[in-house]
Amino acid sequence: MTNETSFRIAVLPGDGIGIEVIDAALEVLSAAREKSGGFRLNIETLPAGAGHYRDTGVALPGDTLKAAEESDAILLGAMGLPSVRYPDGTEIAPQLDLRFHFNLYAGVRPSMTFANGPGVLADPRSSDIDFVLIRESTEGLFASHGKGVVEDDREARDTLVITRATSERLFDFAFNLARQRKSQGHPGHVTLVDKANVFKSFAFFREIFDERAVSFPDIGSDHLYVDAAALDMVRRPWEFDVLVTENMFGDILSDLAAGLVGGMGFAPSADIGDNNAVFQPAHGTAPDIMGSGKANPVACILSAAMMLDWLGARHDAPGCLRAAQLIKDAVATTISETGMRTADVGGAHNTEDVVWAVVATISGA
Ligand code: ATP
Repeated sequence: MTNETSFRIAVLPGDGIGIEVIDAALEVLSAAREKSGGFRLNIETLPAGAGHYRDTGVALPGDTLKAAEESDAILLGAMGLPSVRYPDGTEIAPQLDLRFHFNLYAGVRPSMTFANGPGVLADPRSSDIDFVLIRESTEGLFASHGKGVVEDDREARDTLVITRATSERLFDFAFNLARQRKSQGHPGHVTLVDKANVFKSFAFFREIFDERAVSFPDIGSDHLYVDAAALDMVRRPWEFDVLVTENMFGDILSDLAAGLVGGMGFAPSADIGDNNAVFQPAHGTAPDIMGSGKANPVACILSAAMMLDWLGARHDAPGCLRAAQLIKDAVATTISETGMRTADVGGAHNTEDVVWAVVATISGA
């Protein structure tokens, strides 16, 4: 008789290639779980997204939200289709609603290069890129989502909000992540990205960052204005460890970070709060390639590994940590040694080829 920890996973594939990359990630999760042992995953696949809205008039059904609330972690594909909109013309984006509903303030966006992997920088040091950008995900300029105003067709306004409570939690999250990474050989450094020289809100943000930094004397810290950060993310990205920033800046810089290491197909992400977390690739539904088998599943597979890391640390489940490592190693091997490339990085391999290679590597490990 085994005594395995069991986790309930709410899976929301969503729309477009979200559905395809989730299928890929589930195959890989299953292989890693089988190989590492020590835990079980009860997968519950749930409807939500633009397609569901088109068919039923509801984007995020109450039953889906309830199952997500009761789950141990949420794995999401991507949501939204250009042809399906709310009556006011806005996009269907239940993934944003989930961030607010569960107060997932820390958007964690790792960026790393793989040996022989895709990347756009000629400098050989770019093979050492390995940093994490943390995007505050519940306030900043996005606090204005749905609340912006246009006055008399003359003037428009959206308001950026920074609160002490969220900023303190965000910065503590960033410093704790840097501390955890330091134990794995990273520098142990957090860089705040802001625009404190121009805006009161960012001067306040910086003040809180400096206050929290004092509680983490073993972790280095500095600040960069967002324009300088954009420059340095191209000029010297290998020097960064953990970056933390406001929602809108993070939205933009995380795409830049993804571009450095091969594009959206290589960018995993997690939106983490105090009690819940959603793991999803940073890319959208890519309607231009959906159904063609061309979707790069790496971002979603690595997001699933992030989920196992989070579950393993939170529940003291070494099986999850082992499985996460198996997945990360197998992805690295697939990219570095098999030369496998999907169309987004100029290759001819399809989604299933990558899944097959990753699963075969895990099974043979
Ligand atoms: P969103 O607004 O939700 O971020 P978007 O349409 O702006 O979505 P994405 O869907 O992320 O952007 O991607 C833009 C383009 O990049 C896609 O149309 C597609 O060609 C390519 N792309 C994105 N993700 C992948 C992937 N995983 N594999 C292959 N190509 C991808």
